[in-house]
Amino acid sequence: MLSAVFDHLSSVVVEEVVVDDAALAFAARTAPREAACPGCGTVSARVHGGYRRRLADLAVAGRRVVIDLAVRRFRCQAAECGRRTFVEQVEGLTERFARRTSSLRRTLEKIAPALAGRPAARLARYLSIPTSANSLLRLVRRLPDKQPDTAPRVMGVDDFACKKGHVYGTISVNVETGEPVDVLPDRTADTLISWLRDHPGAEIVCRGRASAYAEAVRTACPDAIQVADRYHLWINLCEAVEKCVAEHRECLAEPAADTAADATTGQDTDPVAE
Ligand SMILES: [Zn+2]
Ligand SMILES: [Zn+2]
Repeated sequence: MLSAVFDHLSSVVVEEVVVDDAALAFAARTAPREAACPGCGTVSARVHGGYRRRLADLAVAGRRVVIDLAVRRFRCQAAECGRRTFVEQVEGLTERFARRTSSLRRTLEKIAPALAGRPAARLARYLSIPTSANSLLRLVRRLPDKQPDTAPRVMGVDDFACKKGHVYGTISVNVETGEPVDVLPDRTADTLISWLRDHPGAEIVCRGRASAYAEAVRTACPDAIQVADRYHLWINLCEAVEKCVAEHRECLAEPAADTAADATTGQDTDPVAE
């Protein structure tokens, strides 16, 4: 059972475990006598030194887990290799320069994009994997950018404000999966035209009502069906009705004086009204 929970520690030698109310601390060391140089792949057994790394790990039963791991520095003996020495890594556990285990990193990489900095940090603290908002944001920035080659079959485009009233960008989403596809630096027709030309494949484009988007789709993919989304249709309708009513204000009959009085009286006697 324990080996299932601590599977990622199976390749190191655990020398001590200290448990208190808040944390579970492992002292461990690496097992193999030799390691392969990450630069050239040559296996070396010549130990040059070592040090202890402190790694945060996923929590167990509400307790923080820390691994105090002794690692060794090896000398690379390949003459043509640029690296004189290298530090061994434990696959599935350690990563170069990282102060957390691979499994903790993967977990935080799910939490951070879903919640963003401070809310993600609050959840992480609650899950006993405390991490600062800033380091969560650094994780998000380091995530590989999924750069699409094609547009989604059903694509949505709309603008969003980086700074309301001043700076706007354009976001494109895959309507069928609900996933964001790309973010463009402004909301001009030209920018969207060149994006659509670089990313062919949109058959249906749901767009905001900005005429720039309509023009861009007409120009870059004239065969695509343009759909005004429901939200923008409602806005268009409301604005049209408001404008029409305002223009015809004169044509509307004034409400009769006695009807208005009745309404007021009715409200006054309404037992529910304050
Ligand atoms: Zn080497
Ligand atoms: Zn009228």
